[in-house]
Amino acid sequence: MKSLKRCSRPIVAAAVLLLSAAFAFAQTVDLTILATSDVHNNYLNYDYFSDMPTDSYGLVKIASGIEAERAADANVLLFDNGDNIQGNPFGEYLAKNPPKDGETSPIMKLMNAMGYDAMTLGNHEFNFGLPYLTSVIAGASFPVVSANVVRARDGSPYFVPYAILTRQFKDRDGKSQLLRIGVTGFAPPQITSWDGANLSGKVETRDIYESALEYVKLMKEKGADVVVLLAHTGIVDFPRKGGEENAGYYLTQIPGVDAVVTGHAHQKFPSSAFAKISGADIAKGTINGVGVVMPGSFADNLGRIELSFEKRGNAWVRVDAGAKLLPVWDSAKKQSLMAADPKLVALLSKEHEGALAFIRAPIGGGEAGGPAANGELLAPLNSFFALVRDAYSVQIINEAQMWYAKDALKDTAYAKLPILSAAAPFKAGGRQGPKYYTNVPAGVLAVKNIADLYVYSNTVAMVKLNGAEVKEWLEMSAGQFNRIDPASTEEQNLINDKFPTYNYDVFDGVTYEIDATAPARYNEDGTLRDASAERIKNLKFNGAPIDPKQDFVVVTNNYRAYGGGHFPNVGPARIIFASPDESRQVILKYIEMRKKIDPKTDGNWKLSPMNAAGPVVFYTSPLGADALPDDGIVSLGVADTGYGKYRLVK
Ligand code: MN
Ligand code: MG
Repeated sequence: MKSLKRCSRPIVAAAVLLLSAAFAFAQTVDLTILATSDVHNNYLNYDYFSDMPTDSYGLVKIASGIEAERAADANVLLFDNGDNIQGNPFGEYLAKNPPKDGETSPIMKLMNAMGYDAMTLGNHEFNFGLPYLTSVIAGASFPVVSANVVRARDGSPYFVPYAILTRQFKDRDGKSQLLRIGVTGFAPPQITSWDGANLSGKVETRDIYESALEYVKLMKEKGADVVVLLAHTGIVDFPRKGGEENAGYYLTQIPGVDAVVTGHAHQKFPSSAFAKISGADIAKGTINGVGVVMPGSFADNLGRIELSFEKRGNAWVRVDAGAKLLPVWDSAKKQSLMAADPKLVALLSKEHEGALAFIRAPIGGGEAGGPAANGELLAPLNSFFALVRDAYSVQIINEAQMWYAKDALKDTAYAKLPILSAAAPFKAGGRQGPKYYTNVPAGVLAVKNIADLYVYSNTVAMVKLNGAEVKEWLEMSAGQFNRIDPASTEEQNLINDKFPTYNYDVFDGVTYEIDATAPARYNEDGTLRDASAERIKNLKFNGAPIDPKQDFVVVTNNYRAYGGGHFPNVGPARIIFASPDESRQVILKYIEMRKKIDPKTDGNWKLSPMNAAGPVVFYTSPLGADALPDDGIVSLGVADTGYGKYRLVK
């Protein structure tokens, strides 16, 4: 109607007459599509890695948001976009206790109770193998659709490729209208390499976009009025080459598509992260006019797509689209916006108790305190001195990543490149306070101890860099230290508190020294501060100075590999392997494999002697006083801030 105001008067009058005639018969249906994605077993509002309840995520909380939407709106559909049945210890526990013949998986008891209309499969659905996946989805009282996962034998769909849901909705006049909603879904085609052991010879995959073209056409032919794509794939707008892992953008270019639920990348759409995507309207929640959501991860956001359809002749024509996310947690106000539904919590109470016993039991089985348990730590492990000494709390992450990378790359073009591993002390004081340190006692390790070693839900990623670029990476890390003036007789604080410890990447696979008396080469934003400055000394690979031209694979996490922390040369263009596997799961598997862990470092890096005239001090956990790693560090007592004060004497 707004556009009419710009017309000249006689035309307005004529148009108003025509339109009011049309409006008398116009039938308009407003449809709300709610979606979850990448739930990764976070059904209950409980963090099984750290054995604590959480306010900020959980499908039982999302359920309250869904009920509120249904109470306000008669025309609601609910979909799940995959990466649902795997991802945390609760899911490990369920997979170890699979549904027996005819039993309904607890996952489907919950999803059936929540009234899902359909779901698709993500890449992680295949992690536990096809028999478990099949036993889980057998219990669904809604269609589980997947169009691009096919039988290796004959290329026919392995799962139900699409569904046409017939639903009665209320139009704007309150009259009942029958609409047919065609829904299909896609998984990243890379599942056949990520889960090769489970899928080889059984399952093959097809390109997401090509499959969508075929099934959108087919669903339209079968009478679909509305087309919804459940696309377990991220959003990038690089030119399409085919076979993309992240194909969500291209799906919005297919005629006839009304809504695309995306995921896999664990990002949020709409959000400012996608402002530069061509054709994206992040205020409205559309890409190329199609309603799009990516509802975060771990059931922390409910996606909501709004579509309006007008009946023209026999066809329902989409006249408007928009989308937004409904978060579980208000991070500004620090309050929960959705309450856990007690009926649904009760539905999973037996499994929750089982999962708690599982995470509190030793890794890999065995009895706590008993013999032959896997995952036994032979001495305590902490991060108290991880910024000034090679520390096993970081090295264990480096070792696990290295172990994983060797296996992941063995049949690839990168198999012959040397692998280096980069990891940082995540829990090492800083702004989080003097209690925020990794501190694991000696003895049998339980699953819940893993969160203390690795607090973030990162995934493993690998980049290719040459020797010169490896040195620049380390120069950036060396911004962790204030510059020490050796001539000064004043007390000098070694640690730059503005530099987050999660950006202090320690490398394994090379040896090096850090000279804190030299000026920093980089600013904290990754810009070059002083091109002549060098803090990294004696950088060696295999005992010889590193060859600046030699290529290396560096295994790290997705945060760093995609450019987090502004490290020079590191970014999406350098990624050679973006693993779907979570770093914490990799550490868990590494500990299971090692069985007994002796937390001794290889001392592959050290601070160069500073020979300062005055005291060089640093602050860390007060508990460090009873755990000094060597006689080069002296405790000076506890400061007013609660931090322990220490002096470096060597
Ligand atoms: Mn995922
Ligand atoms: Mg080391």
